[in-house]
Amino acid sequence: MTYKAYNIKSIKKLPQIIKNLPKEEIENIEIAAKIFPFKVSNYVLDLIDWKNYKDDPIFRLVFPQKEMLKEEDFKRLKNAPPDEVDKIIYEIRMKLNPHPAGQKENIPEINGIKLAGSQHKYKETILFFPRQGQTCHAYCSFCFRWPQFTGINELKFAMKEIEALIEYIKAHPTITDILFTGGDPMVMSAKIFKTYIDAIIDAKIPHLQNIRIGSKALAFWPYRFISDSDSQELLDTFKKIVDSGYHLAFMAHFSHYKELETDAVKEAIKNIQKTGAIIRTQSPILNHINASSEVWEKMWKEQVRLGMVPYYMFMPRDTGAKEYFDVPLAKAYKIYKDAISKVSGLARTVRGPSMSAAPGKIAVTGVSEINGKKVFVLNMLQAKNPSLVNIPFFAKYDEKASWIDELKPAFANKFIFE
Ligand SMILES: *Cc1c(COP(=O)(O)O)cnc(C)c1O
Ligand code: SF4
Repeated sequence: MTYKAYNIKSIKKLPQIIKNLPKEEIENIEIAAKIFPFKVSNYVLDLIDWKNYKDDPIFRLVFPQKEMLKEEDFKRLKNAPPDEVDKIIYEIRMKLNPHPAGQKENIPEINGIKLAGSQHKYKETILFFPRQGQTCHAYCSFCFRWPQFTGINELKFAMKEIEALIEYIKAHPTITDILFTGGDPMVMSAKIFKTYIDAIIDAKIPHLQNIRIGSKALAFWPYRFISDSDSQELLDTFKKIVDSGYHLAFMAHFSHYKELETDAVKEAIKNIQKTGAIIRTQSPILNHINASSEVWEKMWKEQVRLGMVPYYMFMPRDTGAKEYFDVPLAKAYKIYKDAISKVSGLARTVRGPSMSAAPGKIAVTGVSEINGKKVFVLNMLQAKNPSLVNIPFFAKYDEKASWIDELKPAFANKFIFE
């Protein structure tokens, strides 16, 4: 398959491909796509059951919906005079919290140079946002990285060179992991990826052990690992990482078991595994897409069958169409619990539901009753302050809360990270 993508500029061509998509639907998508990310690959179009597209999880994953906007905002956009559209778009976007939970914090610095394309939040892991990986093969309409795709440049992380980053890692012996992230780093050419990897390998940093790649390419464009013109070079680079003594951790984003069903994705998974890389899986839990324990149970079972390791279930961040995708913590925990209780121990490696908040990753690990009081049992899976990791703490049970800032401590007067 040759990659082809549709975005807001080419959306008018879609009805030729999807014959039964009503004109009004296209118009609504077009309006919502002024605000939310929209891009779909030909491969993803084929994953959608177009006869029942309204309820199709993949349709909802990639096509922004009218309901994602407040009714008044939708109307304002729909009726906007041409010379005011940009202003209205900007105003609506700014209300959607485009830069949640301190993505601009923890920017490392070495020799007086700020490494704008990286982020060092947890001692062991440094995130690297390669400049060429700041897009994806298709876009998730819930994505919190959307300012990067929608051209608000002041918010864009970018970094041209890796040398300064390598100097920084050398100077910080606690760093064991470098995580290539984006966007999707698998969008970049194998040549550029190899340039980064060669620089890292050549630097022979003794404390660096793990190279991670965060990617949704297996779900959005598995042919990246099969038949793109540089697929083999990419896989060879993976193998080189492993052969050089690093663990290559491919962190695959899968939101639904439907993304695991094609021959292409299965072949791509095998090709990656053959290089010696281990694929771990993660996804946010999202209303309208995967908010049921059956979906997660089936997805985790299938992932394990395909040799992958379920890793994280995330709570969606407080950004974008949060209300549309929102799942309360109580419900997310129940879904996690119901699903995990039905899978083999091999799939019980997955942790969550977890909130990536400013102080760290906070998971709901139980609902309990202590001295007659119903509580959430919380646990920090990752913390800026590592001494807080794995200490259970308690919040008052709240059926509706969907983020840590809506919870109140159950017994103390503040949370352990405050
Ligand atoms: C999740 C996350 C990591 C990786 O954490 P692990 O628990 O080691 O997988 C690193 N940086 C940030 C900002 C994260 O959110
Ligand atoms: S693949 Fe990741 S970065 Fe890309 S749109 Fe989806 S969530 Fe955002």
